Amino acid sequence: MEALALTKSDWESLMTECGQPNYRAAQILEWLFQKRIRSWEEMKNLPASLRETLAAKFPPHLLQSIRETGSRDTTRKFLFRLHDGQLIESVLIPASPALYGDASDRRTICVSSQVGCAYGCKFCASGLDGWKRNLTAGEIVDQFLQVEALSGEKINNIVFMGMGEPMANYENLIRAIGILNASWGVGIGARHMTVSTSGLVPRIRDLAAQPLQVRLAISFHGATDDVRSLIMPVNRKYPIEELLSACEDYVRSKKQKITFEYILIRDINDSLEQARLLARQARRVGAKVNLIPYNTVEGLEWERPAEDRQEEFLDILRRAGTDATLRREKGHDIAAACGQLRLQVEKSFAAADALH
Ligand code: SAH
Ligand code: SF4
Repeated sequence: MEALALTKSDWESLMTECGQPNYRAAQILEWLFQKRIRSWEEMKNLPASLRETLAAKFPPHLLQSIRETGSRDTTRKFLFRLHDGQLIESVLIPASPALYGDASDRRTICVSSQVGCAYGCKFCASGLDGWKRNLTAGEIVDQFLQVEALSGEKINNIVFMGMGEPMANYENLIRAIGILNASWGVGIGARHMTVSTSGLVPRIRDLAAQPLQVRLAISFHGATDDVRSLIMPVNRKYPIEELLSACEDYVRSKKQKITFEYILIRDINDSLEQARLLARQARRVGAKVNLIPYNTVEGLEWERPAEDRQEEFLDILRRAGTDATLRREKGHDIAAACGQLRLQVEKSFAAADALH
């Protein structure tokens, strides 16, 4: 396993194996997560022989930054190459407008959890090329560390809404969350982390049973099984009723509000009848609804509804007493367009390859 994926107790056992005292674990963690030093040679308070052992065992960098788009006051995207050449992206969303809640001092990172995605939702760029592999816990944690280093920003909120289905990479997700949360690690409060899922019911129940108070967001996108299954094939396996019941359990065990994400797609899921049903479902589990006008994805046909339809949809939810918001940013909201940068770059790589 990578250095960034080891917990304090993993380091302690490793130090015992290396014939080192226990406190070496705390020293190493301080270099990695507080001082943010990767090169083992620079860890001056460790004995030279241990530094050599660690250098041979753990390569210093997991992610290589290859492209950055956006600027300081806007959403910024970071494209990384993994050791096996695969590409992933992370997105940094500035303090205002906030993605979640009203707090304006939030700097949020949207991290990827897999290369590609196997779930094939019909609105999403991440699944267009299928699933390649899971990210390791170290690759998930490293997105945070690298984006802080590259941007010079202090990030205080994490959403697992990038490429991939985090719940389909459950073990690495939980390990990464543990390290991002730990006081000896990155130190982000669990309530400042949101896991977004297309609705893997058994994993929602597993997460509900976990002691960590992480937040849950559901990619909802359809208020009847017909509509939802058309947009999200996973709904055939875990239909709405089962999903709602798992959400109720989550809310009961964590005592926190969850979020329903609902992309508005013209003539597909934007009828006022869908709005009325969605309002009922959201009220049943006390969920907040985030309406997101669909972002056009190259290679996909759908469009967002006209603005007055978006407002009407919002109005129905609000009048029914649902806590609902509509993202009104113009143009393409980058956070929602996760997966698109990688696709663009892969296409241009493919075009370049074709020239050779
Ligand atoms: N696999 C997880 C995490 C990925 S985030 C999940 O499905 O929840 C998926 C979210 O990204 C969607 O719920 C939606 O909010 C956003 N998204 C993806 N493609 C989009 C598009 N074309 N337009 C708007 N939002 C999109
Ligand atoms: Fe995968 Fe989520 Fe995109 Fe669906 S919305 S294809 S589950 S990343």
